[in-house]
Amino acid sequence: MAKDVIPTPDPRQVRFAKGALERIRRRRVREFEAMMTTGFTRTCPVCGYVGEFAPVGEPPRLDGLCPLCRSRERHRLFKLWIDRRGGITRDMAVLHFAPEPVFEPILRGLAGTYVTADFMRSKVDRKLNIEALDLDAGSFDLIVAHQILEHVDHHKALAECFRCLTPGGRLVVTTPVIDAWETTYENPAIQTARERMLHFGQKDHARYFGRDLKDHMRAAGFALHEFVSVEPDVSTYALMRGETLYELTKPANEPKPVAKTKTRKG
Ligand SMILES: [Zn+2]
Repeated sequence: MAKDVIPTPDPRQVRFAKGALERIRRRRVREFEAMMTTGFTRTCPVCGYVGEFAPVGEPPRLDGLCPLCRSRERHRLFKLWIDRRGGITRDMAVLHFAPEPVFEPILRGLAGTYVTADFMRSKVDRKLNIEALDLDAGSFDLIVAHQILEHVDHHKALAECFRCLTPGGRLVVTTPVIDAWETTYENPAIQTARERMLHFGQKDHARYFGRDLKDHMRAAGFALHEFVSVEPDVSTYALMRGETLYELTKPANEPKPVAKTKTRKG
């Protein structure tokens, strides 16, 4: 049987190999770092930071993260909505589901009443199930529920938020939507966390919305305004192109039932 002939390298060659290995590793790290850096100057509307942003997520989204306040794209879109359309004043009551820490001081500073809520988390003012709200009808002027609808029965959630809003009050939501899909993708055969990851994009998502979500919002009684990220905001504030914040308004005057009057001649 033939024997392998493995030569013994010169110790100087081994030292060279170790140096080469280190140089290759450092070069790859530099290449990776260069890939993660754009060199663009961005502005954070949440905290006011101006400068380079950082990558975030897996796979990384370049310039997705403000290094000062750690806001993501959708947070910055929401701040632009607050500034431009929010109109939040001291006489308003705001309910904030799954509150992002970066917004608590901002909303608390604007609203007269500010209540945080969550079904799972404990460090909030109220433990509330958005599908069955333990709240009086018409008790809030603004409800904020980012990244909630894809986790819950959204028909129940929309109906409950509608009930708990004052006339003219608004619900603000963001949720993943595939606008090119006519209908929402739900699939009762999908049961495990791993299957939900494959089909719905996250292990605790219940569906993937199509553009019929907007019909569901209107069917719940809301008037819909879409606040969409467009240029120059996208490049200035590092937003996701076309990301949409849904602003749902409960009509100020609910349509009065048509009075049936009988006229009698005589
Ligand atoms: Zn920031």
